[in-house]
Amino acid sequence: MGKLQLTCFGARGSVSVSGKGFDIYGGGTSCYVVNFGKNRIFLDGGSGMVDPKTGDYSSQGTDEIVLITHMHLDHIIGLPYHDGLMLKDHKVTIYVPFEPWVEKLRTIFSPPFWPLELTDYPADVSIDVVPDSLDIDGCRVTHIVGSHPGKSLVYRLDYEGSSIVYATDYEHDNGESDERLIQFAKDADIMIYDGSYTPEEYIKFKGYGHSTPQKGAEIAAAAGVKKLVISHHAPDHDDDFVRKMENEIKPVFENVVFAYVGMEL
Ligand SMILES: [Zn+2]
Ligand SMILES: [Zn+2]
Repeated sequence: MGKLQLTCFGARGSVSVSGKGFDIYGGGTSCYVVNFGKNRIFLDGGSGMVDPKTGDYSSQGTDEIVLITHMHLDHIIGLPYHDGLMLKDHKVTIYVPFEPWVEKLRTIFSPPFWPLELTDYPADVSIDVVPDSLDIDGCRVTHIVGSHPGKSLVYRLDYEGSSIVYATDYEHDNGESDERLIQFAKDADIMIYDGSYTPEEYIKFKGYGHSTPQKGAEIAAAAGVKKLVISHHAPDHDDDFVRKMENEIKPVFENVVFAYVGMEL
């Protein structure tokens, strides 16, 4: 039986950070890769996408899919640096949540903001609206609209009994959204969840569109999620701080990990 294999290339939120204190969890912003069979799906194209390991094309020739949750820069800034765009005879499809955002993504990566357009690279690059349901070689990709300023999508991947939910840039307790997420993430093997803030910090940043590991644990438990991956670490949280947050949540939800660059599940 096949399995979805998840690798983290960027778990930072908002803006890239580097230097002492950011070696363990890493400084690149949101980017994960899911491998299954000979296929590869990127979840977001943040600065973590610049990692040269994302260009390890052992399965070269396979079409690539990039699922963008939303257009905040920390989720798209790595796109023009992606090694896959430099390969001829290589197809890269970038999916954005809503029709008007296709043109906006083209604009962000075009002069004078960027020297060339994403579709000008050697690869065969297309930008499209993500369909309600997508089948990629047996992997079903679905989504719901999450809770975030300007909207953001939560994606779910199901492949041969293996499942991953990607719920970043998600704010809890916003109307009926938590119940919607609980239903959507039902029995998932892995849920990647926005744990940007401690509960104390959240009080100050309510309405910014982010959440806490504690809320992630509540939602994961209610949904029967097997493994909780906390992501979108705040840029001012160094390794010691993130480690402390991780240790605090472990007694609440045992099977939890705070994402770090190079993490493979
Ligand atoms: Zn973000
Ligand atoms: Zn955002």
